[in-house]
Amino acid sequence: MKQPPHIAIAGATGAVGIEMLNCLAEQKVPYSQLTLLASARSAGKVVEFQGKELVVKELTADAFEGVDIALFSAGGSISLEFAPHAAAAGAIVIDNSSAFRMDPEVPLVVPEINPEAAKTTPKGIIANPNCTTIISLMALAPLHRAFGLKSIIASSYQAVSGSGAAGIVELDSQIQALANGGEIKKEVYPHQIASNVIPQVDVFLEGGYTKEEQKMLNESRKILGLPELNVTCTCVRVPVHRSHSVSISAQFEKPVTVEAAQAVYGEATPGVQLCDDPSTGLYPTPLDTSGKDDCLVGRMRMDQVLPNALALWVVGDQVKKGAALNAVQIAKLLLE
Ligand code: NAP
Repeated sequence: MKQPPHIAIAGATGAVGIEMLNCLAEQKVPYSQLTLLASARSAGKVVEFQGKELVVKELTADAFEGVDIALFSAGGSISLEFAPHAAAAGAIVIDNSSAFRMDPEVPLVVPEINPEAAKTTPKGIIANPNCTTIISLMALAPLHRAFGLKSIIASSYQAVSGSGAAGIVELDSQIQALANGGEIKKEVYPHQIASNVIPQVDVFLEGGYTKEEQKMLNESRKILGLPELNVTCTCVRVPVHRSHSVSISAQFEKPVTVEAAQAVYGEATPGVQLCDDPSTGLYPTPLDTSGKDDCLVGRMRMDQVLPNALALWVVGDQVKKGAALNAVQIAKLLLE
């Protein structure tokens, strides 16, 4: 790969694409050229970045000439159609959608957990995991290394920005309508999200779980290399703008205590910090992580039902660590 690389962002005008630009700057990723791609609707739009004016181009099959790293965040169907063109043009694709995540020839990478997986890319594509899975595993992977993870029981509290820019617009317009007595418009979610919670994220599958819940099982197994890991999950959309929270009961192979588990986090666990002092009311909330890189873990206590298990609460910015930052960190791995 040429250094510094030519980087393209497909979906550059979306919630994740815009954050990718911020992360490229914050992570000081070197580049020779930056190409911004989106739909025909955005072609010609000007984006200011690091003192330069970048003109958004339409995403087409031949848009990847000379591109070394292509960050995709335009949705699964767009990735399925255009990522192979980018790879065929010689780029390494880092894809934010779920299109390739479970392909055995596509590594699924969280740089703090399984960076070695990014070294083998037979299809020229690396997948960025599901946001709720990344945030959960940022808390659980250090505990797994210490105590051996056996099972996960989780409930998520997922922000509306997880549905992209349209999710934020829907929440804000419903809040306004509630205040002004206007019509509640529902386009993104199946029910009103303002003043409500919706126990459905993504579509239902056979068996009653949603696709988002199934991703937690499949992707956790693949990232941790634990094909027998048991995971059961309920994913819930909440009227929060940004940052997903996850309540987890995690069972381990080895004996575990709260003190030993808390001692696991520190300098050796970059990207995740302990934020846990109930005596002073200290525990993480979505506002604490919004716009931040690190995930925060708190409310750690012994699970009162399962043996050898901990209950905990983890929060992380799903647009950043759950998507854009993780993808940019993968790009940095490729440049090392
Ligand atoms: P978004 O805000 O709706 O943005 C979608 C982006 O895709 C926009 O740049 C849009 O361009 C572009 N796009 C849509 N249709 C296109 C087409 N036909 N051709 C080319 N570009 C097209 O969505 P998002 O939240 O950023 O999500 C993007 C991807 O990241 C999805 O796969 C999502 O599942 C994944 N992801 C999102 C999050 C999150 O927290 N939001 C977290 C993890 C993963 P225009 O502006 O021109 O329409």
